[in-house]
Amino acid sequence: MSDELQRLKEENEQLRARVAELEKRAEEPVVTTHTSAETQVDVAPLQEADATLRRLVQRIAMILQAEKVVIMFYDRDMAELKAIPPAFGVEEERLPFFKVRATEGISGQVFRESEPVLFHDAIADNRTVQDHVTMLGVHNGVTVPLVIEKRDEENRIIERTTIGVMHAFNKRHGEDFIDEDVRLLERMAKNVGSIIANLQLYREVVEEREELIQTLESLSAGLVLVNADGRISQMNNSARAIFGYNESPIGKDFHEIMKAKEIAEMFARANEGGEGGTADFSIHHPGGERIYQLNGAQVKYEDGRNLGVVLIMSDVTDLKNIEKMKSGFVAMASHELRTPLTAIKGFSSTLLDGIDDDIYDKNDQKEFLTIVVGECDRLRRLIDDLLNTSRIEAGESLTPDYTEFPLVEQLDKVLKVQQQATKNHVLKANFGPGLPDTIIGDKDKFDQILTNLMNNAIKYAPGGGDITLHALVEGDMVKIGVEDQGLGIPKDHLGKVFERFHRVDNDDNRKIYGTGLGLFLVKHLVEDVHLGKIWAESEVGVGSTFWFTVPVRLDIDKAKELNG
Ligand code: ADP
Repeated sequence: MSDELQRLKEENEQLRARVAELEKRAEEPVVTTHTSAETQVDVAPLQEADATLRRLVQRIAMILQAEKVVIMFYDRDMAELKAIPPAFGVEEERLPFFKVRATEGISGQVFRESEPVLFHDAIADNRTVQDHVTMLGVHNGVTVPLVIEKRDEENRIIERTTIGVMHAFNKRHGEDFIDEDVRLLERMAKNVGSIIANLQLYREVVEEREELIQTLESLSAGLVLVNADGRISQMNNSARAIFGYNESPIGKDFHEIMKAKEIAEMFARANEGGEGGTADFSIHHPGGERIYQLNGAQVKYEDGRNLGVVLIMSDVTDLKNIEKMKSGFVAMASHELRTPLTAIKGFSSTLLDGIDDDIYDKNDQKEFLTIVVGECDRLRRLIDDLLNTSRIEAGESLTPDYTEFPLVEQLDKVLKVQQQATKNHVLKANFGPGLPDTIIGDKDKFDQILTNLMNNAIKYAPGGGDITLHALVEGDMVKIGVEDQGLGIPKDHLGKVFERFHRVDNDDNRKIYGTGLGLFLVKHLVEDVHLGKIWAESEVGVGSTFWFTVPVRLDIDKAKELNG
């Protein structure tokens, strides 16, 4: 008996030594977190900790003579205990199926009570049934809590948290687990717990950083972090695009990449702890000059040390252009309003002055009044354009009224009316074969589209020339074009002339007054009201053709649905 005792004692000693060795391994530091923004998270410690954990699990299986060892981690969001890798004796693909609510089964009991449990007959035990351990072919086992302990300087436990449970299943050689196994597993669970906690912490840090980097990368604004010594520690995609920089900018002096003096000044101010404020700078890109608004601020560590400066730049070119266009528009609109008003006032005052003395004969009066009426129409058109633009901008449609109307008749009518408006130009028709007798659409708005394009053709061909109205059939669409021999439109303006307030700003065009609203409205009438397409082809000094398509048989239901 005493021999037997001695042998057990020795065996115990050996096991203790082994456990101590394992504990030592497990306590090796596995986590090193960096707060500095420029440090990329190193995944090596993760792999190392993972390997340590794997070794530990294997040894536990060996020491306890268990066929299977499974770790379950508490998922707070789902209130579940879930098997996580590494495991011993269970394929990793099967682990995700092994989970249980934290209120159920032996796993739940051990987790809640934080006390180990020994079970001898998994099939007959009511608790293990809830764990579905039969799924893993379990018949007996030990389950212990995974606890992490926080200690103070004097090594007193100040906090205990249960983060999961660990199972050792199926004692080898058909034996049963005993109390000694429970104690051993409990001891080893401490190491497992601390490694898992560290791993979890590390993963969270990695994930958080990854999230942060992805967020920064997906920002449409350019973002650059510059160290206190002027070196770049972070530069997102948008910022690299702004400065046309494709290499890795990390560690580079920011002056080399971001050359605008406003950036250097902003960095200097913010790095000194002052207000970074706002500044604008511009960069020449192949597509033209772009203007950026720059904001800068100092970034500090929690302890107040200077980490550097964060610079944010957003493209404000379009905004600036709209501002410019709007002020141009105000100047233009006042001119456009004043010109007809002056004429109206002038001619009506003249008529008024002459009333008593019968100065003007009927013909004069007719002529003056015709001018007054014409100018009133011009004013009304301008006001209508302004109102319609603001309606479209507010997302409202210009309530369509769809009917079936004759196509060629309509085209001829517009040609005739427009020919009356000019002596300088020759208006021609070029109608292809097979044009439909009628089309479905909003007749007035169709007229407005044509009139507007013909008006522009006359207006922007001040030297006269031919103006050709093309009409042809393409599939189930009618394609209509207005071709002039006028000033033409520079390439970079071709797509933009359909934007509100957009006018080609050169010497020739400046002399011709307009609101920059006509084509914006025409585009809406073609694309939204008639479900067609509009585009322009042009060569400066040669002429322009504005093309648009409309369906022969407009789907009224669809069009109405789109137009509210
Ligand atoms: P507006 O004529 O009142 O300025 P539009 O929206 O009708 O406004 O046209 C926008 C701009 O497109 C015009 O200012 C002009 O620069 C250009 N444009 C339009 N039609 C023509 C054309 N037929 N030929 C040359 N330029 C044109």
